[in-house]
Order: sequence, then C-alpha cells, then structure tokens
Amino acid sequence: HDPIHVIGGGLAGSEAAWAIARAGMPVVLHEMRPVRATEAHSTDGLAELVCSNSFRSDDAQNNAVGLLHEEMRRAGSLIIAAGDTHKVPAGSALAVDRDRFSAHVTQALEAEPLVEIRRAEIAGLPPAEWDNVIVATGPLTSPALAGAIRELTGEAALAFFDAIAPIVYRDSVDFDIAWFQSRYDKPGPGGTGADYINCPMDKAQYEAFIDALLTGEQTSFKEWEADTPYFDGCLPIEVMASRGRETLRHGPMKPVGLTDPRTGRWPYAVVQLRQDNALGTLYNLVGFQTKLKHGAQVEVFRTIPGLGDARFARLGGLHRNTFLNSPRVLDGSLRLKAMPRLRFAGQITGVEGYVESAAMGLLAGRFAAAERLGAALPPPPATTALGALLEHITGGAAADSFQPMNVNFGLFPPLEEKVNKKMRRPAMSARALDHLAGWLSSAGPAGVPDGAAPG
Ligand code: FAD
Repeated sequence: HDPIHVIGGGLAGSEAAWAIARAGMPVVLHEMRPVRATEAHSTDGLAELVCSNSFRSDDAQNNAVGLLHEEMRRAGSLIIAAGDTHKVPAGSALAVDRDRFSAHVTQALEAEPLVEIRRAEIAGLPPAEWDNVIVATGPLTSPALAGAIRELTGEAALAFFDAIAPIVYRDSVDFDIAWFQSRYDKPGPGGTGADYINCPMDKAQYEAFIDALLTGEQTSFKEWEADTPYFDGCLPIEVMASRGRETLRHGPMKPVGLTDPRTGRWPYAVVQLRQDNALGTLYNLVGFQTKLKHGAQVEVFRTIPGLGDARFARLGGLHRNTFLNSPRVLDGSLRLKAMPRLRFAGQITGVEGYVESAAMGLLAGRFAAAERLGAALPPPPATTALGALLEHITGGAAADSFQPMNVNFGLFPPLEEKVNKKMRRPAMSARALDHLAGWLSSAGPAGVPDGAAPG
C-alpha cells in the first residue's frame, strides 16, 4: 500500500498516524516544527500542549469530555494512553506532565515501524500523487497551507478567528419569562415564525446589564493575536457596549417586532437565542461573542431574565483560530467535498479542545485506513461522544452560525426512555459505551471493517 500522509504532528495528527499504523497501513507524518515555528508552540515535540496541561474532567459517567476519554481509551487512543501514563494529581480531571506526555507520544510514533516522521512544512496543496491525506495542522495552520485551503473552499468557509457566543441548554431556560418568536413573526428559510427564544429586559435591567458588561473582567489577547483586527459583525459584546450605552439596544439587543406575551408590548431590550443544533437542545446567545472571563460570563449572563438558572454548554470567546465551516464543506467521513483526497482532523474541523481535536484525529485515521483498504467505515453511532461530535460538525450544526464546539451532552440524541434528571447523564454514558462496543467490534480492533484485512 502507498502511505497515507498526515500533515501536522499535534494532538490530532499524532492520534491519526497512530490509528493508521494500528490498522496496519504505512503513514508519513509531516510536522513543520522545529524547521518552522508557530506562535504558540515552544518545543519540537509531537502533541505539544500549547497552554493548559488539563484534558478536563475524567468522569465518564457525568461529564461528556470524561466519556470521550473513556471511548478513546477503548478505541486504543495514543493520546489518552500517554495522558493516563503521565497524569498528575488534579482531582477528578485528567491533567498531565506536559513534557513527559509529549515525549511519550513522540517516542511511540518514532518506534512504530509503519510511521515515518518528516520534519518539513507542507507549504501549499499537498502533491497530487498523495491520494489519501489528512490535514491536521490546527488552529495555527501555516499561512501557505491555509491560503491554499481557502482557495479550495472559498473565503467564507475558512475562518482565521473564532467569535464564540455562549450556548445554553434549552431545558435550562425559564419559559415563564422567555418566549419563542421571530422578529415580526417572520419565518426565515425553513423557519416557523417562532424560531428564536427571547429574553426581555426593562430599562433598569438593561442599564444594570450594561454596567455589568463594562466592569466584567476580561481575558487579554496574546501579543500575536492583538494585531488581528476584529471582524465586522463579530465585535465582542463588551466592546459594543463600550461604544455607547444605547449601542446594544440598536444592535443585537434590539426589541422591535418582539411582543412579550406577558405584557403584550415590545420590551425595552431583548436577548435573542438561536437554535444551534438540529436536535434543538442547544441555543446560542445571538451576537454575544465575548472576551469576558468565564466566571464573569456566567455571573453576568445569568442576570438576563429567563436565564437565571441557565446551564452553559459552552462559554464565549474570541481567539486566533483557523477552522473550516465543516457542516458546509466536509462529508460525513471528514473529507473535503471539493477535493475528497483531503480529509481534515483536529481543531481545524471546528472542534475545540485538546481531547476533541485528538478524537477527530482518531476517527480520521480510521476512515483513511479503511478507505485505503477499499472499504467504507461507518461513523460511530451518534449516541456515542465520538459520533455525536462528528455528527455535529459534519451535519448537525447550523452552517450559517458555525463556531468551534466542545463535546457536551447537548449534542447527544435524547434518551428514548424517561429517566429522572439526576440519572440522565449516567444513562447517556451507559448507552454510549454500549453502542461504542458494537461499533468497535463490527469494525475490528483497529478500525478495519470486517472482510477488509490489511495486506
Ligand atoms: P495542534 O496541536 O496545534 O497541531 C497542529 C500541528 O501542525 C502543529 O504541530 C504545527 O506545528 C503543525 N503544522 C501547522 N501547519 C503545518 C504545515 N503547513 N506543515 C506541517 N506542519 C504544520 N485546548 C485545550 O483543550 N486547552 C487549552 O488550554 C488550549 N489552549 C490553547 C491555547 C492556544 C494559544 C491555542 C492556539 C489553542 C489552544 N487550545 C486549547 C485549542 C486546541 O485544543 C489546541 O490548539 C490543540 O492543540 C489542537 O490540536 P490540533 O492537533 O488540531 O492542532
């Protein structure tokens, strides 16, 4: 077999190369460091953690990222094995000694005979003779390659900055206060005229909210991020507020055409929430991208009437981040529709976080290996964390407002049976691990579908 090429030896690329080798296929892993640096990496190790040393909660019963760890463990993940081996005390989280972790991944791949590591930048489209390529170059993809991808996808489908608005679980919104309505009851494309959740504010509430936004503690841009100008239409909410106390009331918090059923009138200001996934379990706060610290976000956004007990599936942020509009441009096995020899993995697919990035590497590696064998590997069931995340970025997420996503239980299809609230997450986890076992055994231990033996 000709080798599969993986570009980028970060979290996703390392995991993908490992998965391909486990399936018995040769793979060339191209990593540009140390020949060429990024703004955030500081070593030449594979799978370098650029910031925190935490893979977040390791609780597989109650936390979606903990469940994702467990699924990856069962699927033979190198990243999680290295994390487990080099973990440091961190309560219920999985945190690692970053240097030993990266050394472990590097050595495992160097020692694997089917893996060849080449230290060079791929500065443009990969050569045409590479027929099976995984691009896993991350949030700081080098400009030459990013530019080539952008030409293929069109400008609007590859972003260089994320502008993340917080997302809440719909079942945590108080509908004694909030109501569903589109502005002037106008149905948008495919809409009903009642597509948005509206949270009303009176004058005093609005004034207090503006004060809270202006005084909330903000995270700062990294030096190299500071030069990148804000894009039109995605100014942080607190920056908009600082331009004048009325700016928001004439912008994202405009109340016109929205009638509060409790008063029969338009409120003074309104916060609108838009459906974020096909399941309808998640809603984003429209126009609320923010650089407020996470603690401040929870505090300030829970003062919004109707969101007093809101649970957040994701908090807002704004960072340098290269990512595709995956729901639009990728197929269900992470291939670029416009050039199917290119498959994508990691943060560039619009997932967010070390573990999520590695998870998409694991799947891309398995898909690529199966394809090399002339077989199609079915995606993991959408009831698993792996499958739910894949389904979200390649189909379930709204393409128009697509922004990077962490794994969370809002991405999972609801349980079929009625389960009391406290037991819902453990029940979803049990269902996930059960369905994962079926997928793993049908696909063989290395992700190679039955009947397609490596040769
Ligand atoms: P990376 O791990 O960045 O790997 C991509 C690799 O591709 C790099 O090694 C790079 O050198 C290489 N590369 C790029 N272009 C080319 C090319 N043209 N040719 C060859 N090689 C190339 N997530 C968290 O969970 N926790 C955090 O604390 C966290 N902090 C972050 C801080 C910063 C500053 C950034 C930018 C992101 C952070 N993330 C964090 C988000 C994300 O999870 C990580 O960036 C993660 O490393 C993404 O994995 P990846 O494999 O997609 O990309």
